[in-house]
Amino acid sequence: MKIGVIGFQGDVEEHLGILKRIGEESGNVEPLRVKNRDQLKDVSGIILPGGESTTIFKLIKEYGIYEDIISMVRNGTPLMGTCAGIILSAARTNDARVDGMGLLDIEIERNGYGRQAQSFIDDVEIKGIGNYMAVFIRAPIIKSVNHGEILAYHDGKPVMVRDGNVLGLTFHPELTDDTRIHEYFIGMIGGEGGVSTGTNGEGVIVK
Ligand code: GLN
Repeated sequence: MKIGVIGFQGDVEEHLGILKRIGEESGNVEPLRVKNRDQLKDVSGIILPGGESTTIFKLIKEYGIYEDIISMVRNGTPLMGTCAGIILSAARTNDARVDGMGLLDIEIERNGYGRQAQSFIDDVEIKGIGNYMAVFIRAPIIKSVNHGEILAYHDGKPVMVRDGNVLGLTFHPELTDDTRIHEYFIGMIGGEGGVSTGTNGEGVIVK
């Protein structure tokens, strides 16, 4: 299956690199850098990378794929947004320059940790994955989750959320050697019976 990394700005190569490694081991994952509508049509999963959300926002609008991403994801294509990517996926942002896609019903604050704690690395406990070393860089803060399941917290704040086919993280799984989050995302694509649904961890669907 082809997995597209929206490829204008940010940690594009890093995501492609992890997908390539997984593909070499599993044989059925093909990473694709996506910059236009035709390439987007070809993929079974979409990754919005970390980077600068205002820049990525401008470019996906300019290249005409903003609306296409929304309709593909609404029709079931899994999406993972990391850092800037979760800002772009959110229903509400605190910055008028980034009109979130509304794919995750959360409210998010860009650069929420302020200047003192712009970047840090810490362990988080992820439901279904376990202990994970998370890299936060000028990370946003999730202010509220209206819909979906919170998979991880850091310091009492949600840092990883899943709602059905949409996964959002405020940290950067593309900046470590740990492939477990990408593998989890790949598991959301065409798993048993197709795309999986968000659950509350006990098999109960969160709607
Ligand atoms: N602060 C960045 C933004 O608002 C996100 C940071 C990141 O992706 N590392 O776009």
